[in-house]
Amino acid sequence: MLVAGNWKMNSDHTSARQLASAVVAAVGEPRQVTVAVCPPFVNLDATFGALHGTPIRLGAQHMHEADAGAFTGEVSASMLRAVGCHYVILGHSERRQFFGETDASVNRKIVQAHSHSLVPIVCVGETLDEREAGRAADVVSVQLNTSLKDVEVTSSERLVVAYEPVWAIGTGKTASPEEAQNMHAVIRRLLVAQFGDEIGFSIDILYGGSMNPGNASSLLEKQDVNGGLIGGASLKAEEFAQIVRAAQEKA
Ligand code: PEP
Repeated sequence: MLVAGNWKMNSDHTSARQLASAVVAAVGEPRQVTVAVCPPFVNLDATFGALHGTPIRLGAQHMHEADAGAFTGEVSASMLRAVGCHYVILGHSERRQFFGETDASVNRKIVQAHSHSLVPIVCVGETLDEREAGRAADVVSVQLNTSLKDVEVTSSERLVVAYEPVWAIGTGKTASPEEAQNMHAVIRRLLVAQFGDEIGFSIDILYGGSMNPGNASSLLEKQDVNGGLIGGASLKAEEFAQIVRAAQEKA
């Protein structure tokens, strides 16, 4: 089980440190649940300072696929490792929508993340139009298969998938527990087909999209919902900690 907070473009150097410290205090010693926070690049270092010596892990929200070079404004996997990142979110729908991220680029980034011992949190999810057209499962399957093309993992700890229906992100609308489970089961089948039973059944599949303390338990109790990728609610330490506690109850 993993509960990860995506802070998006929120916080500054000082408030990131304060939020990280508040998360540490509110979450305490999580049992059987891994907890991570993903601040903006420029606040990774400050956040790492506040998390140091605690069980809470650090993640980034994005990275470039190259080792280094003339890519103004971008950040590499080795840079993320050097500031203490364990995870990197790849293919978030906001990166796809506003910054041209594609399944093919996500695929290259997964390989690059792995070569620097980062654990990718690979985001997939359909738009409202795609869901209403009955194409949600097909869309998510293509996203996942293309993103994971030729990717090899030797342990389930090396990969996380997040199902984030685009219509539920930051909107206050949430997939019902049944809608989430149905899509997580599709994702599970694809993971088992690619990586075999032992690894495929153990990879964490997170739900993301307006998860909050009020709906977390009903989503997390579903069999293939193995945690959450939390946006808005991760900016409030106590709300985030309540979601972590809901995950602990299932674990
Ligand atoms: C996200 O950005 O990954 C997300 C799930 O956001 P929110 O929880 O705010 O919908």
